[in-house]
Amino acid sequence: YSPEEKTLLEIIRDPGLNQKIENLERNSHYHLEIQHPKYKNILVQITHQSSLGTILFFRDITENRKLEMIRKDFVANVSHELRTPVSIIRANSETLMSGGLADKEYSQTSLEGIFRNAVRMSSILEDLLEISKIEAGKYHIVKKNTRLLPIINRAFDSLLGYAEKRITRQCSVNDNFSLFADEKALERILTNLLDNAVKYSPFDGMITITADEKDGKSLITIADHGHGISKIHSERIFERFYRVDVGRSRDQGGTGLGLSIVKNLSELMSGSVHHEPNSPQGSIFVITLPTQ
Ligand code: ADP
Repeated sequence: YSPEEKTLLEIIRDPGLNQKIENLERNSHYHLEIQHPKYKNILVQITHQSSLGTILFFRDITENRKLEMIRKDFVANVSHELRTPVSIIRANSETLMSGGLADKEYSQTSLEGIFRNAVRMSSILEDLLEISKIEAGKYHIVKKNTRLLPIINRAFDSLLGYAEKRITRQCSVNDNFSLFADEKALERILTNLLDNAVKYSPFDGMITITADEKDGKSLITIADHGHGISKIHSERIFERFYRVDVGRSRDQGGTGLGLSIVKNLSELMSGSVHHEPNSPQGSIFVITLPTQ
């Protein structure tokens, strides 16, 4: 509608903005938040000029603000994740230094605590470095025709045998099934997904891996019969540090970054990843990659 003959307050229902303009400061700015029809964050630059009246510049800064928030959240999350292991390492070392070494049994437990938490910190840092490398565009992808089965086997081997003790693997991937991908990135994706499938499965659980071609795309699925992920979480699990059950993830040595790496690497290969519920319970992760 035409704004002519209307007051500013009738057009933009924000008394704060109106007040700011009425103050007649020579140059000022105002943050305007609009909720409908879509949330927008607008920076209004107000300039009063005696000859022209008042000039308002509206700059949409919604996206900048969002990125700023993500950055702040990220720093807060990293600090939060590192705080606990650092405190444990510090407290245990202090006790050892102030006489705890004399007690052999206590020393052993303390050192084990230090070691466990140092390992935890290095897992978090390794994952963070990987993510920052991908996001900085420094992860070089070399896509070529690649046989899938050897990569699945290597991914399983990198779980250091703990998978074999806990679950049964059913792999129905043809020996000659190949796809167009970067070997290193694909191995990392499969390692992370298999690691999760094992971690979140009951003892003696079963993990099923399949590969198929559909509509010119290669699909790899990794299915487990663990406790699954409910719909409200399944959209967010690919976000950095998002966990359904923080305690459970930490107990299993999780960093909360594994699926974020999976998503980033899949997209780097022009593919995608999504989660589906398994029947009667559990999770299915599907990786889709272009065949060429
Ligand atoms: P984490 O290191 O915590 O496993 P991920 O990014 O790999 O971090 O996964 C994020 C969260 O998604 C996990 O904390 C867990 O709550 C959930 N999740 C991932 N894979 C599975 C799975 N196969 N079964 C059930 N929950 C899962």
